[in-house]
Parts: sequence; C-alpha cells; structure tokens
Amino acid sequence: MVNKEDLLEQIMENLDQDEVVELCQEMVRIPSENPPGHLEEITEFVGRFLRNNNLEYQVMEGHRGYPVLLARLTGNGERTLLLNGHLDVVPAGEKNRWAIPPFSGRIIDQYLHGRGSSDMKGGVAGLLGAFKAAAKLPALPGNVILILVPDEETGGHYGTQWLLEQGEISGDGCLIAEPSRDHPTIGQKGSCWLKLITHGKPGHGSLSPVAGDNAILKMNQAIQVFYRLWEQDWEMPEEIKDLIIASQEMIKQEQKIPGLERILDHVTVNVGVIRGGDKVNKIADYCEAEIDIRIPFGVEPEMVLGLVKQEIEKLGSGFAVESLRWLSKANYTLPEEKIVRSVVNSIKRVSGQDCRPLLQWASSDARHFRARGIPTIQYGPAELGGIHSYDEKVKVADLKLYSRVYATVIIDFLLS
Ligand SMILES: [Zn+2]
Repeated sequence: MVNKEDLLEQIMENLDQDEVVELCQEMVRIPSENPPGHLEEITEFVGRFLRNNNLEYQVMEGHRGYPVLLARLTGNGERTLLLNGHLDVVPAGEKNRWAIPPFSGRIIDQYLHGRGSSDMKGGVAGLLGAFKAAAKLPALPGNVILILVPDEETGGHYGTQWLLEQGEISGDGCLIAEPSRDHPTIGQKGSCWLKLITHGKPGHGSLSPVAGDNAILKMNQAIQVFYRLWEQDWEMPEEIKDLIIASQEMIKQEQKIPGLERILDHVTVNVGVIRGGDKVNKIADYCEAEIDIRIPFGVEPEMVLGLVKQEIEKLGSGFAVESLRWLSKANYTLPEEKIVRSVVNSIKRVSGQDCRPLLQWASSDARHFRARGIPTIQYGPAELGGIHSYDEKVKVADLKLYSRVYATVIIDFLLS
C-alpha cells in the first residue's frame, strides 16, 4: 500500500521551484503571440525541456502551424489526471506602452514581467515543474497526461478541441493552469460572436433623411435590439444557484464597478467592430458590425439568438445576422467532483488558505473538456490587471506556490 503522506513529501522534494521561475522567464522571452500564432519555437522549447529530463512526449499537428504537445506518465492505478495549458499569448500591442518590455521576462521587485507571465506561461511553468517532479517518483499511483496547446486565445479549435476530437485522450479530471488567483474557477459563461449586416438604399447626402435609406441608421436600430438583451432576466440552474450567488458576491468585493455582478446571470453585449458607408455626402447603403454576446448559465445560445432574430425581423427588410464561428454554451463542473475537492484540499495544504471555487464570466478551453464529460477546474497564478493588457506580470512567490499546489494535486487526485 502506497503511503500518501510519503508520496506528498517525495514529490515536494523533487519539485525544483527555482526552475519553475526560470522556465516562466524563458517562455516569456519566446513571443508566441496569437494572432498570428506561430507556436513552433515555444513548443520546441518545452520539448527540449522534457527531452533534457528524459521525459517522452509527442507533438501532433492537426492544422499546420498549430502544434499540440502531449506527455504521459503511466503509473500503477486506474485514475488519469489531465494537466492542460496554452502556449499562445495575446499580442503585446503597442510596445512603447509597456513600462518594461513585453518579452523581457525580467524580475523586478518580486514580480516577473512580460506578456504571458500571467496568461499563462506562469501556470504552464508550474505544470511542467510538477510533471517533472511526479516523473521522478519511484511509483506513481495513476496516470498523468500533460497537454500543451496552441490557439486558446482564438477559440481552441486547432488546439484542445481538435485534440479531443481525435478521441485518444480521456481522463477522470482536468486541471487547467489558467490565471485564477486565489479562487479556482469551475464554470465559464457561454459566448456567441455574430456579424450583423444592414443594407440600405444609396442616394445623395443632401437629400437625407427624405430620400434613400441609410444602412448606418438601420445598424443603430439593430444594435439597440441587441443591447436590450441585457435587460432580460433568466432563470438560474437550481444546482448551481448558490455558486452563482457566491461568485457574484466575490465580484462585488473585488471589482469596484457597481452592478458588475449582474454579468454572471445576464446576457452581456459588446459591439466591437463597425464598418459602414464610404463617403460623407453619400447615403450609406451598407453597414456591418461584429457583436460579442455572452450567455449566462442554464441558457441555450440558440434561444438568445432566436429572440434577437425575432426582434430584428420586426424592424423590416435589409437586416441579416451571421455567425462568426464562435458559439458555446455556459458550462460548469460541480463543486462535489473529485478534481475540485482535490484542488481545494491541496490549496489548503500548501498555503493554509481556504478557498471557494467560483464561476467566471470569460470563456476558456475548459468547455471542450466538460463537453466530453471530464470534470475540469482552472487554477493558476496571476495578477489579473495586466491580463490581455499592458504591463502583465506575475508574483515570483506565486509561481512557486502554485507549482507546489499542482504537485500536491497530482498525488491527492490520483490517490483520493
Ligand atoms: Zn489564457
């Protein structure tokens, strides 16, 4: 009989926390901005790290330029834990708006700086450290599969989704090292991206508004229809009602924007792009807009779409709604699941802190695992302010702490 306490002690001895910090630094120094999404160099870097530690891995490429890296540890036990992370980062944007260059990986005043340090090369570094520590154990009480993917920041179609569609990967629980800070997340809202098109009738600008039919004005009307979705109330699924309310409480405490907690149980709407008309003295005959709507828990995206289409039809002719290849349902893992309990216990063990798994408004690759029935939780180091923004950074102490939690989860999940 394997002794859990012994294994926990051993894996912690095997864990090289300074190496985790160095790994994060080195990965930040390899830009893997998506778009454009050239992931070869960063994937090669991770491969080299595994090779240097005599760990086997494979790189699969379902779509050219989108390598997926898989590494497996096979132990004595039925249970399989999946560890997942993405190697792409969102573009750094205007480099001169960064106080410290985005790909420097510099450590200043206990923070490691750079694009991806929080989202999510810090988390990936922790997973790599924990994976290596688990591999050095004389006997592992189950199986661990490390999955590092491209394309999370643009939808995961060529990364996690593609990989799971191949049908070769299954697991009893999945830990994604996405930025979460103190409270792991176990559910994400759904999302639906749309293109809205309006056609009008052109004419000389001097005759408007009597003559012609302005596509830009029609777009304005149609956008109002979308924004009215925000006013609508939806019923929360009974089994996670408490969880939604607790998550809203947390939003109230942490975010200083009054009413922001409503985003969890309402449809949110954002017009992100608009193009229309071609000349100031012409009545615009064409306009298009791209809209991002987020779907609350328990609501079918199709239902929201149906509603909005119905209202837009009432506006008359010259309106069209097209999908932008991004549609997902809100999804969650229940707090009672083994992987959730294991992460909560491990955080308590490592940091002494109690935590509460919460729901999140953004979407992530977690949905692809949950869609295949794999309970999934996200927990990773982060300073939330810099994510997808300028001056992204992560606390060096957190990189170490989270890697200790990951190592603990490996043992706790496989043995509990
Ligand atoms: Zn991410």
